Amino acid sequence: MSIEAHPFSLYNDPAFDMAKEQFRVISEYMNIPSDERDRLFYPKRAISVSVPIHKDDGTTAVYQGYRVQHHLSMGPTKGGTRFAPSVNMGEVAALSIWMSWKCALAGLPYGGAKGGVCVDVRSLSPRELEALSRRYMQEMIPFVGPKIDVMGPDMGTNEQVMAWFMDTYSMYVGYSVNEIVTGKPIYLGGSLGRRESTGRGVAFLVERALDVLKIDAEKCTCIVQGFGNVGAIAAASLYYKAGVKIVGLSDAYAAFYDAKGLKFEDFEEHMRTNRDLSNFTGAPRISPEDMLIQPCDILIPAAVDRVIHGGNAGQLKCRILAEGANGPTTPEADAILDQRWNDIFVIPDILCNAGGVIVSYFEWVQDLAAFFWNETEVTDKLFRILDHSFQAVVRKAKTEKISHRTAAMAIAVERVRKAKNTRGLFP
Ligand code: NAD
Repeated sequence: MSIEAHPFSLYNDPAFDMAKEQFRVISEYMNIPSDERDRLFYPKRAISVSVPIHKDDGTTAVYQGYRVQHHLSMGPTKGGTRFAPSVNMGEVAALSIWMSWKCALAGLPYGGAKGGVCVDVRSLSPRELEALSRRYMQEMIPFVGPKIDVMGPDMGTNEQVMAWFMDTYSMYVGYSVNEIVTGKPIYLGGSLGRRESTGRGVAFLVERALDVLKIDAEKCTCIVQGFGNVGAIAAASLYYKAGVKIVGLSDAYAAFYDAKGLKFEDFEEHMRTNRDLSNFTGAPRISPEDMLIQPCDILIPAAVDRVIHGGNAGQLKCRILAEGANGPTTPEADAILDQRWNDIFVIPDILCNAGGVIVSYFEWVQDLAAFFWNETEVTDKLFRILDHSFQAVVRKAKTEKISHRTAAMAIAVERVRKAKNTRGLFP
């Protein structure tokens, strides 16, 4: 049965439909025979678990948890764990597929994975969050391992959650297994530079794109959607190191825009004592949708998926679209951006936000070797891999007159396809 015809209601979700459509486009472009497509696209394993915890008020609550391991053809699977109300099997599956292409593009020896729990973390007390984290990992023990599937952080999880995951797994086997998760605190086997890696990678690639376009960073303006790990660090790197003027910033609760430039330090100061930007008063507000279509040189969606869609892609007024988030651009928007290739330089998500998984890979390697690198080594190696991938994508796009996303996907899918075809049916 062809990929288009498959019902697979297990993965019913708009993000999954989007991953499927992207794959359909790329397999048409690559002329992949139809009997190979399902094997390349559909996840190898999908696990659903009930996660019960005792609440502070004495009641018991059950949360739904998921983990999807996309393919086992190149090594263990690798991917973050998301705690968010949107989490379902389809979203997690889409994210695991994007992880596969991302790892393959960067040349990492992993298949993609992703997991998560459907929960609003803001509704949990610190003790309840710990109980949920530990119980989720406990439920996952039969399915994960340092050579099987390695977790990391994503939206709603952080170093503390990774430490609880690592501790829960270690209690089970009876000794410390640092390499079971990445994104841990440094003193528990985390890597220097991991926390900053995704945002720094985004900023590095933006600067590479500015070089290609021969634009001076100090004359640039930038809008960032999402003020979490990725958005805040990408914005800080561009603002402090490259001299870029930040004109727009938002989180899930508020958006701010000032063509003259925002005082970035004030946002950072606010976040030291607040959980979000909802009561920030230091800059003019704008509607979150309007912020995305304001004039700027660099637009960085660094929050959630599908924010650049058929309705706003034609109105974007940026020179560079740097996809910090996973899946921020829908296939309908892609079709519009393809027409605007001369106008907007897209750095596709599987390239743009790969810094996180690349340094996660470094963390795993350091843990396995029990030999740790300094931050300069980590960052130099990160930038070398990103630069190599960036050049390969830009070169292929130029030679074959295709979009950067098609070029990035084609390189990645071809690597996974070769591994599968060379090995046989098992993985
Ligand atoms: P985070 O939880 O640290 O921050 C997310 C930010 O986005 C918060 O400021 C939140 O308020 C904001 N946000 C949520 N919904 C929003 C909305 N509708 N509009 C505007 N802002 C919104 O998460 P993160 O780790 O920074 O991840 C952000 C994105 O980057 C996600 O798509 C994630 O999958 C992707 N990503 C993260 C990493 C990583 O290493 N952290 C790596 C690769 C990709």
